[in-house]
Amino acid sequence: MSQLIKTKNEFINKRRALPGRVGLVPTMGNLHQGHLDLVKQAIEDCDHVLVTIFVNPKQFGPNEDFANYPRTLESDIEKINSLEGSDKVIVFAPENNEEIYPENFQTEIRVKDITDVLCGKYRPGHFDGVTTVVYQLFSISMPHFAYFGQKDYQQFKVIEKMSQDLLLPLGLVMVPTTRDEDGLALSSRNNYLSADERKQALTLPNSLRELAQNLVDNKDYILLKDEIKKKLENDSHWQYLEVYDADTFKEVHTESKTYLLAGAYQLGKARLIDNVLIGV
Ligand code: AMP
Repeated sequence: MSQLIKTKNEFINKRRALPGRVGLVPTMGNLHQGHLDLVKQAIEDCDHVLVTIFVNPKQFGPNEDFANYPRTLESDIEKINSLEGSDKVIVFAPENNEEIYPENFQTEIRVKDITDVLCGKYRPGHFDGVTTVVYQLFSISMPHFAYFGQKDYQQFKVIEKMSQDLLLPLGLVMVPTTRDEDGLALSSRNNYLSADERKQALTLPNSLRELAQNLVDNKDYILLKDEIKKKLENDSHWQYLEVYDADTFKEVHTESKTYLLAGAYQLGKARLIDNVLIGV
């Protein structure tokens, strides 16, 4: 069974007393199998695993779903406790926002350039909120490894850049995207979908898969750009659908090792994202 801690000071003291390899899994809760796969990986790799559950207000825009974001701590803990090795896990779920952002908190961590495109372009300030909270979680957790999902690939690369630039002494692990049987990436925001929207949501993973397959078959980047353009013209649910060099988030070029195909698809209240990486 895991342990639950609700204050930062208690968490810091607990962490200081932990021997061996420590893994950190930051989440906003409402855990699904995608989150649990990160925790499982951390349990496998580490002696102790810190799971944080905090709906971070700084990463939500003024018109986004911060107020309605599902908060399900009790069932989250049950899910963690159902994992083999859950006795290695300490859950830190701050009891209020002041635990993380005390009055007069003045600092913001901002990674430039790669936050200007894809989700960053449509969610101004989002990644600054992510890096600010993740930096703080790194500080109090002092992890040897931190685990993030490929579903949020841009988030992973932004955190990687922050960690490299600020010489943070930890390793980052990217865990593959966990999907429903039909291919839709698991997400807490899938809860917002009606039955019809849930069906239509498959356009996102299906399109990414189809485009990736065409690129592998034809090795034709211009054709890929044309296919993307057509999809965007024919379906207004797309917020973006883009192909970039997966390391620089710039146009692909002859030296590109990996292409990132990424999309955001808006269905009612639910904004869904997904991506595939294609080695070239
Ligand atoms: P969130 O609670 O949405 O902030 O996500 C916490 C962590 O879980 C992030 O590193 C996400 O990338 C990861 N995650 C969320 N959904 C999935 C998924 N379907 N597969 C793998 N990782 C995921």
